[in-house]
Amino acid sequence: MRITVLGATGSIGKSTFELLRQSGREFSVSAITAKSDVNGLVALVREFKAKLVVVADPERHRELRDALAGTGTKTASGSEGLLAAAEEPADAVMAGITGAAGLAPTLAAIQPGRRIVLANKECLVCAGDLFMRRVRQTGATLLPADSEHNAVFQALAAGPREAVERVTLTASGGPFRTFTREQLERVTPEEALRHPTWSMGSKITIDSATLMNKGLELIEAHHLFALPAKQLDVLVHPQSIVHALVTFRDGGVVAGLSVPDMQIPIAHCLGWPERLAWQAPKLDLAQIGSLSFEAPDPVRFPSLRLARAALEAGGATPTILNAANEVAVEAFLAGRIGFTGIPAIVERVLEKAAAERLGAPETVNAAAAVDHIARIRARDLLLEFAAKAS
Ligand code: NAD
Ligand code: MG
Repeated sequence: MRITVLGATGSIGKSTFELLRQSGREFSVSAITAKSDVNGLVALVREFKAKLVVVADPERHRELRDALAGTGTKTASGSEGLLAAAEEPADAVMAGITGAAGLAPTLAAIQPGRRIVLANKECLVCAGDLFMRRVRQTGATLLPADSEHNAVFQALAAGPREAVERVTLTASGGPFRTFTREQLERVTPEEALRHPTWSMGSKITIDSATLMNKGLELIEAHHLFALPAKQLDVLVHPQSIVHALVTFRDGGVVAGLSVPDMQIPIAHCLGWPERLAWQAPKLDLAQIGSLSFEAPDPVRFPSLRLARAALEAGGATPTILNAANEVAVEAFLAGRIGFTGIPAIVERVLEKAAAERLGAPETVNAAAAVDHIARIRARDLLLEFAAKAS
């Protein structure tokens, strides 16, 4: 199998390459990309001999080209480079870029006969209708790598679609699950980056702490499984062992469980419809002892409520939600705003957009335009929230 990894140097990219090392299967690497980590890309080429290597930041291209001179590997950069990577011949593409930046390359990767392994959930939040239409039109196979959605995908095989009553995604609750509203106002980026169960990139780790990650995942599930908001639920489960549950109309509930390790859902996507043989971490429930569940708290974690409202509002609202959240998370990580400023900024941008009632983006350019305006509006609010934080 020829595989391309978009976002090769990130957490999802690393898990993917670790599986390629461990699986006995024959894999060859077609294209790999990163935003700016030239050293990471070069190390991957030495080990996996990719055909095309792309650094998104054009200023790093010369460095990449020089480092790979004489190896026979093609290099490129910028948004055209990312599109070229997506189009390089491959059987499977891991969509592991973070944020809406992954939309254009991931869409370009959707081609007939291909397997798309989707980690980049923001693509579906930003332009889900467009994305799923492209999948249907090309007949590409879309497999969810996000652990909850991967569990849903597997559980759905237990019965006919019309018998599905409800799909429940679990959330760890993040590092601040038991914090009061006052405590939440004072948490630092370092504390927010310490996720209790999963090891991931910084953006999704902050999203997990605000619960926006679960909100984005509701929207992701809506598109992946063609389910309306009212059939989608969230349950807090601090141990992150049960990833999702599918309730059928006869009362049967089928759940997907595993150790919280992203290599497991990625292995499922790479092996599908077979099962990959690798040194998978074993789930030891006797050792874990007990699993607990609780309802999410919409008051302390407003992001979940905002995302659900965006899903229900439809049109361009999820695109706006995602863009505003990306700006707010970046500002929080940079120490410019407080933790509770993240949902507050998202809410203000959504309020402003509500009256405009923009339709769902029909093209990548339309999605990029909505995303751009929402980012400007979110950035305009940063000063106001920074002033409040100090
Ligand atoms: P990460 O930050 O560790 O890695 C992101 C990758 O994308 C890197 O290779 C980076 O160079 C590249 N990238 C970032 N911005 C870019 C840009 N503007 N242009 C081009 N490339 C860019 O993130 P991650 O944790 O690996 O997450 C990747 C995606 O997978 C996210 O959408 C995330 O929500 C999703 N996801 C991650 C996990 C996880 O465990 N890490 C689990 C489920 C879903
Ligand atoms: Mg997830």
